[in-house]
Amino acid sequence: MNIILLGPPGAGKGTQAQRLVDGRAMRQLSTGDMLRAAVKAGTPVGLKAKAVMERGELVSDEIVSELIDAELATMGPAVGAIFDGYPRTGEQVSALDEILARHGRRLDRVIELEVDEDALVDRITGRFTCANCGEGYHDRYKLPRQPGTCDKCGSTEFKRRPDDNEQTVRTRMAEYRAKTQPILPDYERRGIVARVDGMADMDSVSSAIEQALG
Ligand code: ADP
Ligand code: ADP
Ligand code: ZN
Repeated sequence: MNIILLGPPGAGKGTQAQRLVDGRAMRQLSTGDMLRAAVKAGTPVGLKAKAVMERGELVSDEIVSELIDAELATMGPAVGAIFDGYPRTGEQVSALDEILARHGRRLDRVIELEVDEDALVDRITGRFTCANCGEGYHDRYKLPRQPGTCDKCGSTEFKRRPDDNEQTVRTRMAEYRAKTQPILPDYERRGIVARVDGMADMDSVSSAIEQALG
């Protein structure tokens, strides 16, 4: 199965992708994570992307589509793909169609996480992750069970994203509205969109996604 998780920054795409991967033959393909890894490693892609990401604008379609293509090339046919944060523009929708066809895959579902914009700043400014395993947390909505220790791997190191500040979030939301929202009608015409209430608690969102996947 190949699915897209779609929604504005802070909607819960990463959280739900991590949950879907657990116990399933699926891999999370997050272009945001791939780009952050490239920035950290100082690759040519990372050098190009760094300032754009810090401003909250979109990185070029070619760069992100190449990252996705390369990642799919490493995956066996039995492993499903969860696209998290990709595609984000009409160009990326076309690129993904072409890439999936080339890898002998088809798109089964697009899950749209519906959220109030007002809640997003709150979600994003409280977000942090485990520096070791990447498990996601939130200052109020999901603290580690044992304070200061990752539930998943026991690490005591956590990190916050430099772009998770209110100013950048506003730009990212504007980018979403202007460039990503408009890709939905195309997928709607294909009859593969399922809408899920992203304002519910994390477990309820997970159940709703399970149901939508059938
Ligand atoms: P995205 O990948 O769409 O940007 P994340 O999954 O990183 O969003 O979620 C953003 C923040 O909100 C994280 O700190 C996460 O723990 C928290 N979060 C995710 N889903 C929910 C939810 N349903 N209710 C409350 N907080 C949530
Ligand atoms: P969020 O989880 O908050 O939605 P991401 O981690 O997906 O954010 O993306 C962080 C940043 O990386 C974006 O603001 C953008 O600069 C860049 N980025 C990630 N995915 C894409 C994409 N598909 N197209 C263009 N830029 C991207
Ligand atoms: Zn961890």
